[in-house]
Amino acid sequence: MPQKMFFYDSKSVALRMAFWVMMACFSAQATAADSLRIMATTTVVADLVRHVAGDRVTVDCLMGAGIDPHSYKATPRDADRLARADLVVASGLHLEGKLAELLARLGDRMPVVGVADTLPRDRLLEIAPGLFDPHVWFDAALWSLCTSSVADALVALDADGADGYRMRAKDYAAELQSLDVHLRERIATIPLQKRVLVTAHDAFRYFGRAYGIEVIGVQGTSTTSEAGLNDMNRLVDRVVAQKIPVVFVETSVSDRNVTALREGARARGQNVALGSRLYSDSLGGPGSGAETLEEALRANADAIVQGLAGER
Ligand code: ZN
Repeated sequence: MPQKMFFYDSKSVALRMAFWVMMACFSAQATAADSLRIMATTTVVADLVRHVAGDRVTVDCLMGAGIDPHSYKATPRDADRLARADLVVASGLHLEGKLAELLARLGDRMPVVGVADTLPRDRLLEIAPGLFDPHVWFDAALWSLCTSSVADALVALDADGADGYRMRAKDYAAELQSLDVHLRERIATIPLQKRVLVTAHDAFRYFGRAYGIEVIGVQGTSTTSEAGLNDMNRLVDRVVAQKIPVVFVETSVSDRNVTALREGARARGQNVALGSRLYSDSLGGPGSGAETLEEALRANADAIVQGLAGER
């Protein structure tokens, strides 16, 4: 069970941040900002860092679009790319389950920040004692709080850019707050009794909490946990009993379990439609129209409204 192991706790993040802020004070003058390279782990995190960093530094992304961060294992080349960066920004809360050891090792000798690890614990959804759901970007207002930890980490590396980082962090946080309002209004157009979102894995719990929709994941909170046969039978019972008309697949997760669920319902005489593919742990690739978190969350909300409210 990889979820038992997690690499950050708030105390070690704070200590590590303090240490690297101190170290960066010695080195910041020597490093030109345009030569700084920031490595983000996922497309969602890269989007966050790019908004705060602007054009001042180079931001690369370890995992491409469509990659599942729960099961992603680093190649030797990845390890090298991470080690050569001036700063690694991870999503955290054990999203990057298989990279945990590598990130912890790197964190002993360079700045590594898990943005979701810096969030107040009372705003997080607990999966098990001390273990939190990592999919925080689905609550745009909660994700907006991560902008300041990115700004802190960038300022620690490049003090001359501080004003710009702080200003862009504030602007992007405000954009995410507006997005939060839009998503709530959009989901509110679905009649209350139809607001049930069935998806491939349990990534949408923050979305459900923030925007008022019940969420059921066929797989657990990590894609590395399998949906058991009993769970699947219970879920088919529920989809049939509640006459749930549509289920959704995700861009970064296999369709296998959702297909099994639809087949199970069909065997019981209920046809369940397949909704548009939702962006979950990865944004869209070039040309997808969902290359930023804002675009992806808007596309998701549109797909959910179309699927559940029958809006065309
Ligand atoms: Zn996930």
